[in-house]
Amino acid sequence: MMMKKTKNWSDHQSSSKSKTISFIIILSFFLSSFLTLAETPKNAPDRIRGEGPFKKLILRGGIFINGEGAPPRGPVDIVIENNKITQIVDVGNPGVPIVKSRPKAEFGDKEVDVSDHYILPGFIDMHGHMGGTYQHTTAEYSLKLWLAHGITTVREPGSFNGAEFVMHHVNASKKNTITAPRIIPYFGFGWGETFSTVKETKKWVRKIAKQGAKGIKFGGAHPKIFKAAIDEAKKLGLRTAMHHAQLDVVHLDALDSARLGLTTLEHWYGLPEAMFENQVIQNYPLDYNYNNEQHRFGEAGKLWLQAAPPGSEKWNAVRDELIALDFTLNPTMTIYEASRDLMRERNADWHKEYTSPVLWNFFQASRYAHGSYWFDWTTQDEIDWKKNYQRWMMFLDDYKNHGGRVTTGSDSGFIYKVYGFGYIRELELLQEAGFHPLEVIKSATINGAQALGMEDQIGSIAVGKMADLVIVKENPLRNFKTLYGTGHVKLDKNNKPIIVGGVKYTIKDGIIFDAKKLLEDVRNIVKADKEKIKNDKAR
Ligand SMILES: [Zn+2]
Repeated sequence: MMMKKTKNWSDHQSSSKSKTISFIIILSFFLSSFLTLAETPKNAPDRIRGEGPFKKLILRGGIFINGEGAPPRGPVDIVIENNKITQIVDVGNPGVPIVKSRPKAEFGDKEVDVSDHYILPGFIDMHGHMGGTYQHTTAEYSLKLWLAHGITTVREPGSFNGAEFVMHHVNASKKNTITAPRIIPYFGFGWGETFSTVKETKKWVRKIAKQGAKGIKFGGAHPKIFKAAIDEAKKLGLRTAMHHAQLDVVHLDALDSARLGLTTLEHWYGLPEAMFENQVIQNYPLDYNYNNEQHRFGEAGKLWLQAAPPGSEKWNAVRDELIALDFTLNPTMTIYEASRDLMRERNADWHKEYTSPVLWNFFQASRYAHGSYWFDWTTQDEIDWKKNYQRWMMFLDDYKNHGGRVTTGSDSGFIYKVYGFGYIRELELLQEAGFHPLEVIKSATINGAQALGMEDQIGSIAVGKMADLVIVKENPLRNFKTLYGTGHVKLDKNNKPIIVGGVKYTIKDGIIFDAKKLLEDVRNIVKADKEKIKNDKAR
């Protein structure tokens, strides 16, 4: 069992009666009073993987899904010059030889035959912690797992390993000196500093903007301080995200913060609370204690049923106002899945070869650990959560159908969710919520780009955009499971089980990464870590 040390950062509850405004600094997707004081994780090593970028790269004969909602179309030839898409040429019809004229390759140009393969825009993980602080994994581990699953952009909410660490990787990824997706850093609000005035708050926002932050991740705050931070962030072009921790949600639910200018809602907390009709506070049992994580998660599983029902006046009014405010929902359904099916998550196919032993250790139930709340997780707890999910999914589908923006994020690195794998699962869950697979892909690509304010550069396959692409042999719309690094098992014509799938190539910035090679690297990291632990024990 890992021991966690507490650092005496400002981590106390705000009181509306108190004249001094204190606020909570949340260092993860939920507040914990146990902060790990790990040494900064190891930086990602220099890049040895990937080919390119090329003066000219031609992808021949693929079927492309543009990410903006168009149906699949192919065969097409896609021309990439350096890191930009410069041509998308329709070259024929499926099932018959190509007779149309095709873009010509000159000496030295790179051509890749992707006949009958699907080409999608690079995925955007809108909630991707790089690991380290809590998980004790290295940067290389999470970065390679993301890329291997087609994720070419990661919004890093909180950047808990500090400005220096995150900015090093942001810049190295930009220069492609490391093997990594684009990293968009949102700094954790406050970040260990205590400030109580509007002036100090604004000063802090200006400071992090200078350091390179693209946004702020909140966990909750006093409305006055929150507003000051949002106002300053807007002025500087920074975006914002918030996990509405229960400690502050009574005076700042999802609708309150959207009205003050918050741009994205992380997870779901604050949304049922905005739809309360017969209460103002969640129906806590009287022996509830927030620092008992089984209490926190067990009771959270009963929250959606306390809110106004689907189709009610209140439900519709909250939905419509949030949409009118251009508010983004980033649900990260995947991260709560152990709550509805613990055994599934604990025994997922990928743990054996891809879950680092330190990460596995971090996942185990503990009253000290973060998000390891199954001290005694019962049938009833799982049933409550299944019902919770049903309402939540209905809201997401309804939100999407009325024009609201839903994005795709994973929050992997907690609760048995492994980087990359956890993200693909989110695609499946969006489909379960009622999204057509093309709507799922839209959430995973252009919607994320819009929420980041980067839709001119990434998020769809279009001329002039960055060459961030995912290439797969199977049709992902038919079965998202084929995107898992461990692939998908099915029977062949001879009744023999075969494994298909896994991403074939991830292209980022015009550089072609062989996804299978990246997975091999990760398997080797995990193997070496296990070896090391075994040897340390033997010593
Ligand atoms: Zn998080």
